Amino acid sequence: MTRTLRDLPADLAGKRGLVRVDYNVPLDAGQVADATRIEASLPTLRWLLRRDARPVLLSHLGRPGGRPNPALSLKPVASALADLLGTEVLFSAPCDGEDALRASRELRSGQVLLLENTRFLPGETANDEALAGRLARLGDFFVNDAFGTLHRAHASTTGVPARLNPAAAGLLVEREVEALGALDRPRRPFVVAFGGAKIGDKIELMRRFVERADLILVGGAMANTFLRAKGIETGASLVEEAALDLARSILSAGEERIRLPTDVIVVDRSSGAGESVADVRVDAIEPKMAALDIGPESRARYAEALRGCAAFFWNGPMGLFEDPRFAAGTLAIAEAAAEVTATGAFTVIGGGDSAAAIRRAGLLDHVSHVCTGGGAALEYLSSGRLPGLDVLVERRRP
Ligand code: ADP
Ligand code: MG
Repeated sequence: MTRTLRDLPADLAGKRGLVRVDYNVPLDAGQVADATRIEASLPTLRWLLRRDARPVLLSHLGRPGGRPNPALSLKPVASALADLLGTEVLFSAPCDGEDALRASRELRSGQVLLLENTRFLPGETANDEALAGRLARLGDFFVNDAFGTLHRAHASTTGVPARLNPAAAGLLVEREVEALGALDRPRRPFVVAFGGAKIGDKIELMRRFVERADLILVGGAMANTFLRAKGIETGASLVEEAALDLARSILSAGEERIRLPTDVIVVDRSSGAGESVADVRVDAIEPKMAALDIGPESRARYAEALRGCAAFFWNGPMGLFEDPRFAAGTLAIAEAAAEVTATGAFTVIGGGDSAAAIRRAGLLDHVSHVCTGGGAALEYLSSGRLPGLDVLVERRRP
C-alpha cells in the first residue's frame, strides 16, 4: 500500500519535510504564466505547515539538460508561491550542497524553502546515487506530490525516497491515484474516448481499455490510423504508418465495441485557390484532403453514446482543436462529458492536450477529475504502476 500523509508520524513539529512538487510551469519574461501547478501543491503544503513541519521543496522546470540555465530558474516560482501561500518562501541554489543543507536547517516555523531546478544537475535524470544521497540529507521525511513526474525514475523521484524514510504520497498524488484507480473497477456502462496524435504511445493503454470498456470512441489522428488499417483511403491525413499492425490487432480484439468516425472535417488542398474546409464521408476522402476533425454525424453519434454511460475516460482531442475550424468534435465530447457528470457519471480526463481542451471549453470544473500529468496518468492506467509510487511504501529503517 502506498503511504499517505496520514501514515506519517503524528508529531511533525520542527521536522523538515522534503517535498517533491511539480513546478514545471510555463514562464513568460521571467514571470509565472500559469500557476495551476503551484495551486495544485497548496493543500499538501498547508497540511504540513499546520503541523508546524518545515517544507523544503524540490522540482524540475523544463529540460535544461543537466546544466544551469538562468531562463529555467525556479526563482520566479518562489515569489508566486509566497503570494499564493501567504508565507515567506526562501530560495536556495543549487539544490544540493552545503548552502542548501544550511538553509534547510535554518528554516524557521512557517517558512518554506524552495530549491533550484533539480535538472540543473546531470545526476537528476541519471538517478545518480550520490546526488540522491545529498538531496536526502535536506529532509527528515519525504513527500512526493509531483504526480506528473511519477513515471520517471530520477534522483528526486525514486532515488531520494529510497534513502529517506518515512516517504509518503502528498494529497495531490493521492487524489490522482484514487481517481485513476477507480477506472480499474468502473461503473458500467464504461465508455472511453481516444484521440490525439500519438497512437504508438497509447497502444498499451488502448489494448487494456478494449478489454475493459463497453464502448470505445475513436477520433483525432488516431482515427485516421484505424481507418487506414481497415483499408480506407485517408488521403493527406496524418496516419501513423508504423502503428497500422497494432491498430489491426486492436480492431480484431474488439471491433464490435470500437466506434470510428463515419464523416470527417477535411481541409482540401486540391483547389488552386488555396485550401477549403468540407465535411465528407470517410469513404470519400480524396488524395489532397486531410481529415482534421470528426464530422457532425460522428459528433452526434459519439455524444449520444456518451449519454448512457456511468463512467467515462477520455484521452486525446478529437481533432486539431487548436484551430477553431477543427475544434467542434473535441468540444462536443467535452460538453457531453460535462452533461453526464451532472447526472452522476464518473468522468476522468487524462492527457496534457485533452486537459487543455477541456479548460479552453470552460468545463474544467464540470468533470469528475482532470489529471495533472498526462504521461504519468497513461502509464498508471496501462500498467497499474509508477516508479515514483512504488517507492512510497512502508519500509523498515536499514
Ligand atoms: P494528449 O496530450 O491529450 O494525450 P496527444 O498529445 O496524443 O493528446 O495529441 C494531441 C494533439 O493531436 C493536438 O495537438 C491535436 O491538434 C492533434 N490532433 C488531433 N487530431 C488530429 C488530426 N486529425 N490531425 C492532426 N493532428 C491532430
Ligand atoms: Mg500531448
